[in-house]
Amino acid sequence: MEWLGHLPTNPARLAPKLSNLKLLDQELIKCTACPRLVQWRQEVAVTKRRAYQDQKYWGKPITGFGPTNAKVAVIGLAPGAHGANRTGRVFTGDSSGDWLYRSLHKNGLAKIPTSDSLNDGQELIDTRIMCAVRCVPPGNKPSIEESKKCQPWLLREVELLFPTTRSYLALGGIAWRAIIDALAELGEELPRNRPKFGHGAQFNFLGSDGNTRLVIGSYHPSQQNTFTGKLTRSQLDSVVKKAGRFAHSGKPL
Ligand code: SF4
Repeated sequence: MEWLGHLPTNPARLAPKLSNLKLLDQELIKCTACPRLVQWRQEVAVTKRRAYQDQKYWGKPITGFGPTNAKVAVIGLAPGAHGANRTGRVFTGDSSGDWLYRSLHKNGLAKIPTSDSLNDGQELIDTRIMCAVRCVPPGNKPSIEESKKCQPWLLREVELLFPTTRSYLALGGIAWRAIIDALAELGEELPRNRPKFGHGAQFNFLGSDGNTRLVIGSYHPSQQNTFTGKLTRSQLDSVVKKAGRFAHSGKPL
């Protein structure tokens, strides 16, 4: 399969319907459907940040990380330029990741509180982290077209995880919309009166398999939010705790 930088006629065909996440990940890392993002991810990988000049950057799309039977799905926005785009693992090697993994560890969802590199021994417990947009965008801002173009990758990942996933934790408004769109696209009936995105916004829905699921929102642990105090560690811990508790017990806190 070869995309070579052009958008397929039907974007839904971008991410093939494969039988498992390993195969999906193998296809994802070859994706070149967004010319601007392909150029940017490679440019960042070549120019590098001074502190990482001696490192080889990943510079490709970022797959999900975590077990393929996860109960909690954490959805972020996009890879960090010198975080995931450098290390090759989602939320790894930057400040956002420091905040997220620390909270996941505190709530029993990650083996260690840090996530620095592929060889750091980190393992997620019942949790898989993924991004709404899989390539680093300039200024951390994907265009609407790029977000839509990447949606099929999220949709396929959510579909393959669906039998086990009970909680969806969306980090930021774009991730909130992306997971709602993916679930709706998969035919799940979501409540019409669901809340707008906000920190702690949440709703339940009865999945097509008869299991109740939770969708919960959090402000993104970006430096913009954590440096300004818009998101505190206790606020993040609170939503991570709710997502984990619901996934394991089926009951909200
Ligand atoms: Fe492909 Fe998504 Fe990267 Fe665009 S952002 S090139 S659709 S993986």
